[in-house]
Amino acid sequence: MNDVKLAVLGGPGTGKSALTVRFLTKRFIGEYASNFESIYNKHLCLEGKQLNLEIYDPCSQPQKARFSLTSELHWADGFVIVYDISDRSSFAFAKALIYRIREPQTSHCKRAMESAVLLVGNKQDLCHVREVGWEEGQKLALDNRCQFCELSAAEQSLEVEMMFIRVIKGILTNSKLK
Ligand code: GDP
Ligand code: MG
Repeated sequence: MNDVKLAVLGGPGTGKSALTVRFLTKRFIGEYASNFESIYNKHLCLEGKQLNLEIYDPCSQPQKARFSLTSELHWADGFVIVYDISDRSSFAFAKALIYRIREPQTSHCKRAMESAVLLVGNKQDLCHVREVGWEEGQKLALDNRCQFCELSAAEQSLEVEMMFIRVIKGILTNSKLK
């Protein structure tokens, strides 16, 4: 059994919990507890391997979070970095997180340069009030060796599932390279 540790990070209210719960249950509930963090477990079989997936969904109130970003970076094998396409400040938050993960000297990441990172522009259903262009997300991802997609936790179950599978496959590929 291979352990795969995935951290879902991003600014408050971007939909980290909504995406995680959508992946685990295929449902969108609408409101999610923001005052505590969770580590969810899921067994799955991918590329003929049995995986024990752990997903870390942080508390949206950083002062209450048990993990500091440093320990999250050290804990995780891969990252989903979430921003809200209708909230520019959340894109700046995502950018800062990516720089922190990729920082070569000071990073506490397990494998700073090559750890699997997938940048997600969530809330695509709110594209009529979009503040961050698709191209901007794509460029940030390309410049920092991340995968990228836009989707909606509210409306797209299959896309959310495929997004998680994509980053888990990225983690497996990296672990083969080690
Ligand atoms: P977190 O703080 O990053 O965990 O964000 P939540 O998952 O708690 O979501 C914050 C708010 O955004 C909640 O009211 C969700 O219902 C809403 N939300 C999450 N994903 C989407 C989405 O894809 N579209 C829309 N319209 N709202 C969403
Ligand atoms: Mg949350």
